[in-house]
Amino acid sequence: MPLPLPGFFTYALPSSMEALVQVGCRVIVPFGRTKYYTAIVSRIHKEKPEGYAVKSVSELIDTTPILLPSQLEFWQWMADYYLCALGDVYKAALPAGLKLESDGEEIVRRFKPKEEARVRLGENFQSEESLHALFDSLRKTPKQLDLLMRLLELSNHFGKERKEVSKHQLMKDEASSAAAFNGLVGKGVFQTYTVEIGRLSSSNNQETVVKHVLNAPQQKALEEILETFQQKNVCLLHGVTSSGKTEIYIQLIEQALAEGKQVLYLLPEIALTTQITQRLQRVFGNKLGIYHSKFSDNERVEIWQKQLSQEPFDVILGVRSSVFLPFQRLGLVIVDEEHENTYKQQDPAPRYHARNAAIMLAHKAGAKTLLGTATPSIESWYNATEAGKYGLVQLTERYRELQLPEIKAVDIHELRHKKLMHGAFSPDLLNAMRDALGRGEQVILFQNRRGFAPMIECHNCGWIPRCVNCDVTLTYHRSSNQLVCHYCGHSITPPQVCPACEEADIRSIGAGTERVEEEIKTYFPEVKVARMDLDTTRSRSSYEQLIRDFEQGKTRILIGTQMISKGLDFGNVSVVGILNADLMLSYPDFRAYERAFQLMAQVAGRAGRKNKRGLVLLQTSDVKHPIIDQVRRNDYKGMVEMQLAERQMFRYPPYYRMVYVYLKHRNASLLDQMAQTMATRLRLIFGDRVMGPDRPPVARVQKLFIRKIMLKFEMKVNPLRIRELLLKVQQDLLSEDKFKTLTVYYDVDPA
Ligand code: ADP
Ligand code: ZN
Ligand code: ZN
Repeated sequence: MPLPLPGFFTYALPSSMEALVQVGCRVIVPFGRTKYYTAIVSRIHKEKPEGYAVKSVSELIDTTPILLPSQLEFWQWMADYYLCALGDVYKAALPAGLKLESDGEEIVRRFKPKEEARVRLGENFQSEESLHALFDSLRKTPKQLDLLMRLLELSNHFGKERKEVSKHQLMKDEASSAAAFNGLVGKGVFQTYTVEIGRLSSSNNQETVVKHVLNAPQQKALEEILETFQQKNVCLLHGVTSSGKTEIYIQLIEQALAEGKQVLYLLPEIALTTQITQRLQRVFGNKLGIYHSKFSDNERVEIWQKQLSQEPFDVILGVRSSVFLPFQRLGLVIVDEEHENTYKQQDPAPRYHARNAAIMLAHKAGAKTLLGTATPSIESWYNATEAGKYGLVQLTERYRELQLPEIKAVDIHELRHKKLMHGAFSPDLLNAMRDALGRGEQVILFQNRRGFAPMIECHNCGWIPRCVNCDVTLTYHRSSNQLVCHYCGHSITPPQVCPACEEADIRSIGAGTERVEEEIKTYFPEVKVARMDLDTTRSRSSYEQLIRDFEQGKTRILIGTQMISKGLDFGNVSVVGILNADLMLSYPDFRAYERAFQLMAQVAGRAGRKNKRGLVLLQTSDVKHPIIDQVRRNDYKGMVEMQLAERQMFRYPPYYRMVYVYLKHRNASLLDQMAQTMATRLRLIFGDRVMGPDRPPVARVQKLFIRKIMLKFEMKVNPLRIRELLLKVQQDLLSEDKFKTLTVYYDVDPA
């Protein structure tokens, strides 16, 4: 059932359905007094449950399974490992169009097949004589005659092979008149009918391009990967930015297809699919399918069904959720930019990590997994080195000996002190931008905060507006003139005078992408600027447009949040500015330094053109910070070694497995009591592996208070045993009256 409830439910099968039903088929079942849900058949048996009246299945939707047995197994693994209900996985996995729901009345079928209106000549006019008579009779209505001639032509009426004609095709011509069309339908000359057609656009470019020939280092890496796969299921490809990792993936995909296998190619972000899609489509044409949330639900249903058919896509390019698609003969999984934390689903359950889930998916299918990145996650690095679980292949040269960029740190603390900063810009950065633009080159600016200003503040009394629902300050968005909560979306118009002291002296502090954009326009009024963040990329086409315009040089400066750090490949960018590194370094999380390094190294990697070394200016008020130094020297190993030492000392991943237990309630003091009780009971079982309860950085969201208990387990402890014990404590607690209203959920391997 698509519900956050544990276990399975048993329903009686009417004899009429008995011969038709199979495991993996959808059925509609009654639930509670008035509800109906789409359930998936997981087992067919003859064991009548005791103690309650078994309800009957209302309707059988499928006669062939929509879920493969391997998928059901994968779902079960995910629910077990990530401590959630199977129904949570079901809800996340199936496109909404395959789930029918009702509140007691009619069941809504969300999936609508796409239809096309077509036109043909009426039965009475098929013979030659009747057609001639028709021509005569239409002489006085030349528009109808024209339209008739057009249909005869399009349908190849007098030729050997007749063709079907869509109404759209017929009416496309400007001369075609709707009145004439209706007139002909009225006379029975035209007959209209509809046919079901698919939405999946079959791209016409079928493997037109010969793929690139690998250079020597790339060829060597490819061979090493294939060798690794002889012994290991997972291989980490650590290749600097622009070393040609994607070219290697293409070769591996070809090999898998030649062996009759399917490939799943995972990307962390929809923004990235645009560029990679083009590159893959050139080589794989119609064999490539794309799957992500910016596609309409109907399209996603069609891809799902195609993957179950006799002719599935051989290659699926997609984000996180594509691990849930049906694969009949998976042979290879590629996880590109494997270090990206957008692979981790935060809310709602299942809070899975798509990289790790993909490794499990591949493992169950007997397939291989390749993890690729310029800045491996510390976990993957550890697994490929100390732990010896994965193979490790390295690519240290950029393609065509392109040099890695020069990275300079700029001390904005001192510049601010000397009043030399121009808003968010240091003189060095402005000069470098001016030079680059003057040479006809492009610039990327990275500011990891959207909106106009992170905060507004009363200059008189220090009042700061906060969200009424959440424990966060509101961000000012200039274009909409609103203060917005980035957690719940709550927004208000900024007050003219301070509600606390009634002074009219409210100012904004700090800069978001929107403000950076505005400042640039004052320094470079004649230069076209684009901004890429969550606010400017709500639709699929807006992403594509932004990227295309920058690729084609229509925009010269691109400002963005972490969205621009991921593997975008532009040929004319010579300067990259990191406006403020301090934000990333001060984030209260054990992964903050790792993440800051990855982000900065990735953004820096966007700089550099053929025959010319790129320049990166890294603005920070802490130039001596070890991470800043490691980024500057491109010292990944130095960073990893330092971080691993700290992680081991303070008991963090990859040496320990972490589980966060989250508790939510409307009443803060009740919640504190309940959290204390739960932590005490957990300590009885797990001892000093239990930490907290604590307030998380954001301790209230959407009117619910939140507390967090942190658990750290040695890697050798079996996750299933952890699950068992945790759920036991939870069940005992929630069965007591005073805890009934408490919400408990888990985050396993938080990221
Ligand atoms: P990465 O994925 O490591 O960042 P890419 O595969 O995007 O690197 O390669 C960077 C650029 O170099 C791309 O434009 C790509 O087309 C080009 N390139 C890399 N290897 C080759 C090759 N062997 N032949 C032709 N072009 C290549
Ligand atoms: Zn005030
Ligand atoms: Zn809020």
